Amino acid sequence: MQDYNYIWANCFEITLELSCCKYPPASQLRQEWENNRESLITLIEKVHIGIKGFVTDSVTGAELENATISVAGINHNITTGRFGDFHRLLVPGTYNLTVVSPGYMPLTINDIIVKEGPATEVDFALRPTAVVSLIPDTTETIATASSVALLNVPRGTSSSHEPIQPKDFHHHHFPDMEIFLRRFANEYPNITRLYSLGKSVESRELYVMEISDNPGVHEPGNWYGEPEFKYIGNMHGNEVVGRELLLNLIEYLCKNFGTDPEVTDLVRSTRIHLMPSMNPDGYEKSQEGDSGSGIGRNNSNNFDLNRNFPDQFVQITDPTQPETIAVMSWMKSYPFVLSANLHGGCE
Ligand SMILES: [Zn+2]
Repeated sequence: MQDYNYIWANCFEITLELSCCKYPPASQLRQEWENNRESLITLIEKVHIGIKGFVTDSVTGAELENATISVAGINHNITTGRFGDFHRLLVPGTYNLTVVSPGYMPLTINDIIVKEGPATEVDFALRPTAVVSLIPDTTETIATASSVALLNVPRGTSSSHEPIQPKDFHHHHFPDMEIFLRRFANEYPNITRLYSLGKSVESRELYVMEISDNPGVHEPGNWYGEPEFKYIGNMHGNEVVGRELLLNLIEYLCKNFGTDPEVTDLVRSTRIHLMPSMNPDGYEKSQEGDSGSGIGRNNSNNFDLNRNFPDQFVQITDPTQPETIAVMSWMKSYPFVLSANLHGGCE
């Protein structure tokens, strides 16, 4: 799934192993939250690094979807979204970006400086080739970048504010998880949207909780724009820590929005999608205390969902599972920039 994100979905996904035990006793869940809380938040914040902006038609101002953005020296392109918006994750450095779109002159902008912190903003206005042909001696398409720093709520300032920690530390079987998700969607309607990607083999909903200041809306682009982030937990049904941590994270983000500056800034500036369980059927078969039996790892048709995505090198002959199809179509529907897939027990 990680490779599929990178190759086909403009999304940089990492696979994380959260815990040594796949299914620890409930008494250890609070400690797992403590161990992982800061990292879970920090990774979401990383969706803001790099270069972002819009690609438009220089004559009409129209937004150009599916334009290709390449970074000199890096063999990995991304494409613009529906609103001509793009977000290219990059570590600090100096970069040359080229944008190519059919019917337009390619445009290169050199020496774009990426610093620590929020993304550098660069817009590309491409000249239609039809217009270019009418204007003789058009040679210069190279511009120089100017960067605009994002407004950023300062962090770690001297306030003695302590965020509210989750209270609900136990294992959530499907009916319990469903109640939890519906409860938070009901209690925090201004920043949440509960939706489903479809159903598992055994007809359990594949729930996703969106958390954002404008749930349901992709807000593209520059300083007001929101890059999209996702976490997927419990793809291996017997690796349950990610599932519980994502429920903790939902509680944490909801309860601290509006009072904790870090959470408020993150939810205002990011569209966060949290999928606590990609394999709810496997979870119901798995056993508390399991640290390696493998029961519940696969979906109900006994396929490992992490080996079920199309691969760029190897032909995958197994039938594509409903859970996999749901996640693939999810990736087509949202312009995710950064993602993590939460596993446990080192598998
Ligand atoms: Zn796993």
